[in-house]
Amino acid sequence: MEDRNTFIVRCGEVALKGLNKPYFERMLVERIKKVLKKFENTEVKRHEGLIFVRTPEDLNSEMVIKEISKVFGVASISPAVETVSDIDEIGNAAVEYMLDIINKRGIKTFKVNAKRADKNFPVKSPEIGRIIGAKVLKGCKVLKVDVHNPECMLFVDVRRDKSYIFEQKISGFGGLPLGTNGKGMVLLSGGIDSPVAAWMMAKRGMLIEAVHFHSYPYTSERAREKVVDLAKLVAGYCGNFKMHIVNLLPIQEMIVQNCPEEETTILVRRFMMKIAEKIALETDCGMLITGENLGQVASQTAEALIVTDESVKMPVMRPLIALDKVDIMDIAKNIGTFETSILPYEDCCTVFLPKHPTTKPKLAKILESEGKIDVDKLIEDAIAIKEVISIYPD
Ligand code: ATP
Ligand code: MG
Repeated sequence: MEDRNTFIVRCGEVALKGLNKPYFERMLVERIKKVLKKFENTEVKRHEGLIFVRTPEDLNSEMVIKEISKVFGVASISPAVETVSDIDEIGNAAVEYMLDIINKRGIKTFKVNAKRADKNFPVKSPEIGRIIGAKVLKGCKVLKVDVHNPECMLFVDVRRDKSYIFEQKISGFGGLPLGTNGKGMVLLSGGIDSPVAAWMMAKRGMLIEAVHFHSYPYTSERAREKVVDLAKLVAGYCGNFKMHIVNLLPIQEMIVQNCPEEETTILVRRFMMKIAEKIALETDCGMLITGENLGQVASQTAEALIVTDESVKMPVMRPLIALDKVDIMDIAKNIGTFETSILPYEDCCTVFLPKHPTTKPKLAKILESEGKIDVDKLIEDAIAIKEVISIYPD
């Protein structure tokens, strides 16, 4: 046995990628290397359709698994024991492995699940299972075989030069490696939805950049910190990114003074989209991403979304469009953004909130209202004084 910890990483959809498969696998290896860079002496290698990670023995496995499981494109991870591909050696390693598990968890039953990836290996899979099972029974007197409901499923994966013993398959998120699908500008608020939207697009391989709007001093310094905290959580999955911070207050005031009150929200939303599009064009982002969701609030009725969409030329991705709120909340909890999202700080959308926002805006009327203010100039001014900050995962 080696003095290193081994992890088998299985690729999800990457494995289906036909001719592009080597490219996707390379990207996935790069991403795994990146998240493990902070640990010294780790090795990440592609081999026979799997990725093998080897770390120093004294490095905590949980930490390694936590990092790898956040990498998009990873279907599952198994901490494993590596042996030479010799049936006796595999048997000895299996006994040692099971003794350790008995020690830790006091299990009484097991079952062997053997697989021979190397078809030249002289023993066939069912026979490998029987031999290893017998060895384990002999070496671990407390254990019995239970084929239906074993407390431990002992996987034995026999490959050409090395073989692997493991019991767990820890799920990753699947998806595609970051950087394989362009770059998008996410409109990131402090709410539940937009961090989930960013995460979902990143999961399909899209790099992320963000724009956040505030109405300082109506919105507080603390509200801004909350968004930065959320952005850092998102960066835990999609790596470092830039966040553009734009003060919307002068635009909101201009709208409130010149346009019908019930149109405030939709007019503000169109400004947000236009500003985001302009920044996106300057930063190589090909799409906008929002957390909008059909019917969730007045500004997200079908009619309102159509009028919002009309404000920009760039494609707008709305990955949450047809999800129910409970499902969005489940994802937020799963990825760890929920607790931060529900902290009670004000958002720029709640400043100047009309009493009765229009739920069925008509484009012609909205355009007429925009004609009363200097849209281009307002956008230019807002962008001229924007801030840019770099977001790093904690
Ligand atoms: P969220 O939970 O994402 O805040 P929401 O249900 O509160 O969503 P809205 O406030 O109408 O919905 O916003 C819809 C979308 O518009 C958000 O998901 C986000 O993409 C964008 N958005 C809203 N407010 C802001 C903001 N202050 N800065 C950047 N983007 C915003
Ligand atoms: Mg919001």
